[in-house]
Amino acid sequence: MSTIVVVGAGVSGLTCALQLAKQGGNTITVVAKHMPGDYDPEYTSPFAGANVLPMAPEYNRWEGETWPELKKLAETCPEAGIHFQKAVLYRRAQDEAAGFAGPLSDGLFVRNPWYKDLVPDYVDLPASEVPEGMSSASSFTSVCINTAIYLPWLLGQCRARGVVFKRAVLKHISDAAKLSHTGRKPDIIINATGLLSCRLGGVMDQKVMPARGQVVLVRNEATPNMVCTSGTDDGNDDELCYIMQRAAGGGTILGGTYMKGNWDGVPDPNIATRIMKRAVEACPALTGGKGIEALDVIRHAVGLRPYREGGVRIEKENINGTWVVHNYGHGGWGYQGSWGCAFRVQELVDEIKSELKLGSKL
Ligand code: FAD
Repeated sequence: MSTIVVVGAGVSGLTCALQLAKQGGNTITVVAKHMPGDYDPEYTSPFAGANVLPMAPEYNRWEGETWPELKKLAETCPEAGIHFQKAVLYRRAQDEAAGFAGPLSDGLFVRNPWYKDLVPDYVDLPASEVPEGMSSASSFTSVCINTAIYLPWLLGQCRARGVVFKRAVLKHISDAAKLSHTGRKPDIIINATGLLSCRLGGVMDQKVMPARGQVVLVRNEATPNMVCTSGTDDGNDDELCYIMQRAAGGGTILGGTYMKGNWDGVPDPNIATRIMKRAVEACPALTGGKGIEALDVIRHAVGLRPYREGGVRIEKENINGTWVVHNYGHGGWGYQGSWGCAFRVQELVDEIKSELKLGSKL
C-alpha cells in the first residue's frame, strides 16, 4: 500500500481522493482547512453553479474526459445531485465581431465548437428563436450539479472506500508529511488547495489569483433551460449573465461576475441588482413576467474562482524529499474538468509509485 495525503476538500481534492481510492492500493488521508458544509469565499467549490459549459478553445482532456463521468452520474446516480438541463447560449453581435474576448468566451461561444461532438444534440437555433439584441444562439444538453449535494456525496463515496478526513491548516505543503492518519510519512502528497496555493509555503504560486464570482441564489424556478449570454449591456466587461437551476430543489443560480484579482468576498448590492434584472429579462418565466421584486432570494454570495495565468497546474514536483502532485488553478471550470484532471493525477501517482517501486496499479 502507498500512503497518500490529499490537501484540499474542494471538488478537485475530493475527486482525486475518490479516483485514487477506487484504484486501490492506496491509504488516503484528506486534510483541509474547509470541508463540504462550510461557506467561505476562499473555498470556491460550494459557490459554483455548477454546470458544464465547455470553455477550452480546442479539445482538452480535462473537459473531454469529465463529461462522460458526469453524464453517467446524471443517468444512474440520483443521490449525487446532478441532473440534465438544456443549455442555451446567446451571442451578442459585438462580442462575435470582437472574437469573443470576454471572460467566459475562450471556446464556449465560438461557432462550430469542438465540444459539439462531445455533448448531445448541439444545434444552432433558428433566427426565430434568437431574442432581440442577440446575433445568434445555440443549444445542447448539459448537466447542472447541486454542489450542496455533490460535494458531500463525493466525501461519502471516499469514506465508503476507507479514506480518512481531517481538519488542518497547513503553512507549508511539506506539513502534510506529518498528517497521514496512519502515522507514516506519506509517499505522495496531492496539492489541491485551489486559490490558496498562492499563499501556501513551498508553492506560493504567484500566477494564481481570484476571479471573483458574485451570484444570487433564488427559490424561483427557471424554464427548463439554462441560459448564458456572451456579454452584458449594462455593466462592466467582467459581468456576466447566466441562469441555471440546480438539481433536487437546490434553487436557481443567477450569475454573475468574473473579476480577476478581486478578493472582495462581500456581495455588492449594485451588482446584485444588475444580476437579478438581467436574469428576469433573459428569462421572464423566472418571475412570471414580473420584475425582480418577485424573486424569492435564498442568499447573495461570492465565491473566488482559482484563476491561474497560463492555465491549470497538474504536474509532479519533489519538495523536501517527498513527491507532490499539484492539481490547482481551475478557474471557472473546476467541476466540468474534475474527472479528467483526477485521471491525470492518477497517472502521475502511478509514475511516482513505479519510480519508488511501491507497486503499480492494481
Ligand atoms: P476549492 O474548492 O477552493 O478547495 C480548496 C481546498 O483546499 C479547500 O478544502 C481548502 O480548505 C483547502 N486548502 C487551501 N489551502 C489550505 C491550507 N493551507 N491548509 C489546508 N487546506 C487548505 N466550475 C464549473 O465547472 N462549472 C460551473 O458552472 C462553475 N461555476 C462557478 C460559479 C462561481 C460563482 C464560482 C465562484 C465558481 C464556479 N466554478 C464552476 C469554478 C469551480 O467552482 C472551481 O474551479 C472549483 O470549485 C475549484 O475547486 P478546488 O477544489 O480546486 O478548490
